[in-house]
This record gives sequence, C-alpha cells and structure tokens, in this order.
Amino acid sequence: MPAASRSSMRTGAIVQNQFETAADLIGLEEHLRHILKTPFRSVTVEVPVRMDDGRIEVYRGYRVQHNGARGPCKGGIRFHPEADHDEVLGLATTMTWKTALVDIPFGGAKGGVQVDTRGLSARELEAVTRAFVSRIAIVLGPYRDIPAPDMGTNAQVMAWLLDEYSKRGGYTPAAVTGKPLALGGSLGREEATGRGVVYCMHAFADDFGVPLKGGRVVIQGFGNVGAHLARIAHEDGAKIVAVSDRDGGLHNEKGLDIPKLFQHAYVERKPVIEFPGGDRIDNRALWDIPCEWLVPAALGGVINKEDTVGRIDCKVVVEAANSPTTPVADKILEERGIPVLPDFLVNSGGVVVSYFEWVQNLQQHPWPLRQVTDELGAKLTAAYTAVRDTVREKGVSWRTGAMALALKRVAEAERLRGNY
Ligand code: NAD
Repeated sequence: MPAASRSSMRTGAIVQNQFETAADLIGLEEHLRHILKTPFRSVTVEVPVRMDDGRIEVYRGYRVQHNGARGPCKGGIRFHPEADHDEVLGLATTMTWKTALVDIPFGGAKGGVQVDTRGLSARELEAVTRAFVSRIAIVLGPYRDIPAPDMGTNAQVMAWLLDEYSKRGGYTPAAVTGKPLALGGSLGREEATGRGVVYCMHAFADDFGVPLKGGRVVIQGFGNVGAHLARIAHEDGAKIVAVSDRDGGLHNEKGLDIPKLFQHAYVERKPVIEFPGGDRIDNRALWDIPCEWLVPAALGGVINKEDTVGRIDCKVVVEAANSPTTPVADKILEERGIPVLPDFLVNSGGVVVSYFEWVQNLQQHPWPLRQVTDELGAKLTAAYTAVRDTVREKGVSWRTGAMALALKRVAEAERLRGNY
C-alpha cells in the first residue's frame, strides 16, 4: 500500500522557523539568538566495524550538543541510514526546548550513526555501538551528556553503551538512560512517552471541553508511542476509531478492540492490517477520518500542505511524533481554528522518565512504578498549564507559546552563567 506522503522540509528547517517566531515574541537579544541557533559542540566521527564476513565497513556518526546551560545535555542516539548532521542538530535543538519546557535540569543533545540496522547481526550491531561510543565517550558523562535510545536503538544498545563507557571510569549507570531494568533502568520508561501524551490530552479535555471519554481518536503509528498511548487512552474511556502502521491502517467507527490489537501488533509485532475487527484502509485514507483527536505518532512532516492538511477533520492535533506538522500546514491549521499541541510538550514523557532514571541511578535508589507515574503526571500537567496560560495571555498558538516559555528559561540560564 502507498505510504503517506511526507513533506520534503527537513527537521532542522522546521525547528529553525519555529524559533524565530518565539524569539520575536520574547524580544530575545541578537547574541542569544546566535548562540541558541547553533550547537555548543558538534562531533563527527568515523565508525569502522569488522563485519561477520571479515570486511571492514566504515560508518559515519554524529553527536551534537545543542545547549547545556540548564544542565547536562540529554538526547537519544539513532541508528538510521538517513541520519545526517542537519537532522541530528534539529533533533538536538528540540531536546533543549523540551527539557526546558518540562523544567528538568538538562540541556539538549542528539546522536546518530548512518547505518541500516536491518541487515546487521547482533554481533555487528554491538560492534557498531561500541565503536561509536569509544569515539564519542570523551564528550559524554553523567554531568556532561547523557544518551538514550531513539530510532533503531533500544535498551540492549544502551546496555552495550553503558558497558563501553564504564570501561573508562568504572560502573556509571547515570551515564545513559533507557537501560534494561537489570542495569538500573526505570520502571515505567517504556510506556512513558505514550502515557505523557494521554496526560496532555486529559488536561486539554478538562480545559476546552473536547471529550476524551467517548471521544474519537485517530492515531498514525502503532509503535512504542502509538501503541501505549492507544492502550492508556482506551483504558481512560477514549474510542480509538483508527490506527495505522507502515503497512496500512484499520478503521472501526464503533472503536477498535485496543487490548487485543495491542497484543497482536505491539507485543507480537504483526501488521495492524492483519488484525480482524475493522476495515482495512491505506495510509492516505487515515487523514480523511473525522475525529476529535488526531494523533500523529510515526513520522515527521506528515501533516503538510501538499497532501494531508486540507483533508483533516478533527478538533485538535496532538503531536506525539517529532515534527509531524510542517510550518505551512501549522499556519493552515491555525487559520482553520484547529489547535496543535506541539511535539516538545506532548511527547516529553520519555525524557521526563529518563530524568527520573538518572536521579534513581545517582542516588542508587529505585522508585516504585506509582511514584514514576505520579511524578510524570505532575511534571507534564505543570508544563501544559504554563503553556496554556501563555497561549491565553499572549494570544499565540500553542507551539509559539510553548517555544517562548522554553526559550525564556534557556535564555535566563545563559545570561546568568555569562562566560562571554
Ligand atoms: P517506533 O519505531 O516504535 O514506531 C513507529 C510506528 O510508525 C510503527 O508502528 C511503524 O510501522 C509506523 N509507521 C512507519 N511509517 C509509517 C507510515 N508511513 N504510515 C503509518 N505508520 C507508519 O517509533 P516510536 O518510538 O513509537 O516513535 C514514533 C515517533 O515518536 C517518532 O517521531 C519519534 O521520534 C517520536 N518520539 C518517540 C519517543 C519515544 O520515547 N519512543 C519520544 C519522543 C518522540
């Protein structure tokens, strides 16, 4: 089936465009604009790996630390054939705004290795991880820069990362988050982003009368974020009428049987379209389904002028994925009066629980799941409320309000630290 078309606008350009609008709103000084538009440190490395057949492949890797004024840099590492410097910088920049917005004591970073993991054996994947980490370890550390999983990496990759890093300074669990539980990972980390999305939906529902209980939800993507948010929203009474993955989607006006679909598609890793209990749709048709809550939870640039924005019929867009809406589509949604809850608010649950993991590691004191869930709710609700108040006070979009708030916090830390 045809994949949903994506705008050609890259993450970096999308993030840059949002920055200027918010910087104008808070009257940000010229030198701070420059500092905050460029990375604090950007490292490019070659990653040579001996493959199982004896050849040596050389991959390219990046670690970009965008800003560390508010605390150690924080951000994932992705293994993807299209990971390049611009993309990694755009994502690192978003991490700076995200950590500031949810008010955790971190800055923003991101890493990437240009590698297609699909053809790799487990040994080769481990070798890529160790070679990359050995080359960037000098800029990492629990008080300097703390990686986490992202596209193409997982808890096992983080375990290898921890092991490789610990060879240098001794056992240092706080040097990386998203680890397996047995190595100091946190309870609640796997579902944290999806749970955070639902906390934001609850808060918006309470304020603006868009019902979550009984409300129709359409979700693009049924991976870590999409599947968990579907499961939790369903538990809270929402009606999930359509979901999709890369192979296509399912639609059922009465609501899909989410617990069974979760088992089928998320636990057993089978395509969504092979699940009985709904009409099969192609990925394009997902955007035509009327709903209260439209939740892109897969790719960037999917809500765009070229293909999708004109067909959307919802009360609110909830950006669970990173950069799913292009700036032009954002403007069109604004003109149509459809609010867009921005990615760096909505999908920040993962980094918030990463922060909790770091705290638990530093204190060598694991938290029970209830504490993780409650403190996640408190962090996200506080961030949501601060954005809502800015939106009301300044009459701006949710994205501009959120960005202005984040920018203000980072700029304040930069000014106080000085060092120019
Ligand atoms: P994932 O790889 O677990 O899942 C991605 C899902 O999207 C899969 O179901 C895949 O089949 C689907 N998909 C891919 N192409 C598609 C297409 N053309 N149409 C419909 N579905 C398609 O990834 P994830 O961790 O769930 O991340 C999803 C998004 O959320 C990404 O943008 C990611 O950057 C963002 N995000 C993730 C986290 C996290 O903690 N996992 C945190 C913040 C942001």
